Amino acid sequence: MARTGAEYIEALRTNPPNLWLKGERVEDPTTHPAFAGVVRSMAALYDLQHDPAWREVLAYPSPKTGQPVGMSFREAKSREDLEKRAAAYKAWADRTLGLMGRTPDYLNAALTAYAQAAEFFAQGDPKFAENVRNYYEFVREHDLCTTHALTNPQVNRAKGPAEQPDPYIPVGVVRETKEGVIVRGARMLATLPVADEILVFPSTVLKNEPGAERYALAFALPTNTPGLHFVCREPLAGDSPFDHPVSSRFEEMDAMAIFDDVLVPWERIFILGSVELTNRAYADTGALNHMAHQVVVHKVAKTEAFLGLVALIAEGIGADRFGHVQEKIAEVVVYLETMRAFWKAAEAEGHENDYGVFVPSRAKLDGARNLYPRLYPRIREIVQQIGAGGLILLPSERDFEGPLGEAMEKYMQGRNLEARKKAQLFRLAWDMTLSGFGARQELYERFFFGDPVRMYQTLFEVYDKEPYKEKIRRFLGWEG
Ligand SMILES: Cc1cc2nc3c(=O)[nH]c(=O)nc-3n(C[C@H](O)[C@H](O)[C@H](O)COP(=O)(O)OP(=O)(O)OC[C@H]3O[C@@H](n4cnc5c(N)ncnc54)[C@H](O)[C@@H]3O)c2cc1C
Repeated sequence: MARTGAEYIEALRTNPPNLWLKGERVEDPTTHPAFAGVVRSMAALYDLQHDPAWREVLAYPSPKTGQPVGMSFREAKSREDLEKRAAAYKAWADRTLGLMGRTPDYLNAALTAYAQAAEFFAQGDPKFAENVRNYYEFVREHDLCTTHALTNPQVNRAKGPAEQPDPYIPVGVVRETKEGVIVRGARMLATLPVADEILVFPSTVLKNEPGAERYALAFALPTNTPGLHFVCREPLAGDSPFDHPVSSRFEEMDAMAIFDDVLVPWERIFILGSVELTNRAYADTGALNHMAHQVVVHKVAKTEAFLGLVALIAEGIGADRFGHVQEKIAEVVVYLETMRAFWKAAEAEGHENDYGVFVPSRAKLDGARNLYPRLYPRIREIVQQIGAGGLILLPSERDFEGPLGEAMEKYMQGRNLEARKKAQLFRLAWDMTLSGFGARQELYERFFFGDPVRMYQTLFEVYDKEPYKEKIRRFLGWEG
């Protein structure tokens, strides 16, 4: 059943992931300053599923129990299903201004596609198909939060996983036992480690070379499994909602996942030893399309927030009368409408894949996910170009309460904004773009779906260019 925020918090408190921060174990992430803000925000998202105004959008009756479960678990069998899921993605994304990329709907979308296309996993072993179906149902019925880690540690990118200084730098199989598979190694990055479960799925395409089978794996584990550790990066969470409007709430955290001879029970294994299945899993099942669908909706929510932000900033300092400022704001409008068009076109051109999963159009989503990493740094630049010095001269809430409070009210006011509101707005802009949290947002947009260079290369490979080459051949009279 769709869980409440209190249930999410209680699960984290009683079974916390093995989080490490600056050499120390985080005993209770629900109260630790690096995590408490995002935990509260996650809880609010779960609670929204029970809000009478939102529950029709965010939940649907479980096919198993009839009780409400999260909409992102709804199997995609038609265009209507895509639209319903997208409406749920948007409702959550709007709550975070699109600044939390890894709300649980992202991986729910992938898991649902995997389960619908479970026969894909049967190619490895019929049991694996059953495992995928059971696992999806388990996550759906308990409304669990999952994180995922796909890439290998950044040790030597010029060499394959088997050629690293130690064969167990990337996660690989040590041995198989009656209970399951022992794995050792690390995955480079898992965002939102304040999760119940981790999905270890393939990402970087494995070369079909001797030794690669050891790394051909897909499995899931509880985040508090013995031997599994999350080593967190520098925290970026601010502590005051006024001074740090978004980092105090949406700092998802990123962590390296280390597997120190961890037992993965057989029922949690989905792929084992097949390089071919590892490489095909995302695209063939439709998980890729469904993750990208969630992403494009999120990018619309995020761009809407940036448009509102730059428009208010320009108005607030009287810069909206300048032609070049208007042009820059209109540029954000163009980006917003472009992403919206990709979203709608992906649904309109949806179709059923080989496994009966109704998938939004990959071509449209490839357009969106390859374009946005190039648009986002420009949007961030536009915020700086319009906000200028105001983005750094940021009075804190305490300045207004101190002895110079009156001076603050006078000198920090805007054209149509009293000083506190102007400070709030500019602090938001700073936190979205220039604080540590804001800077990470740009790195996130550049890389979260993969290395942009290799994504473009993949697009080059998968996109059917033949009709367009033919067009030119015909124009030049090359027929026959
Ligand atoms: C903020 C953030 C959050 C993330 N969250 C997650 C997450 O939750 N889960 C997850 O699994 N991953 C996550 N990622 C990781 C993301 O998938 C990777 O950053 C991305 O795949 C690129 O890999 P890399 O960072 O290891 O870069 P590298 O692959 O090391 O690339 C470094 C440079 O080398 C170049 N390069 C490397 N190999 C090649 C090659 N073969 N051919 C050509 N050029 C090459 C790249 O183009 C790049 O310029 C996240 C990343 C960021 C930044």
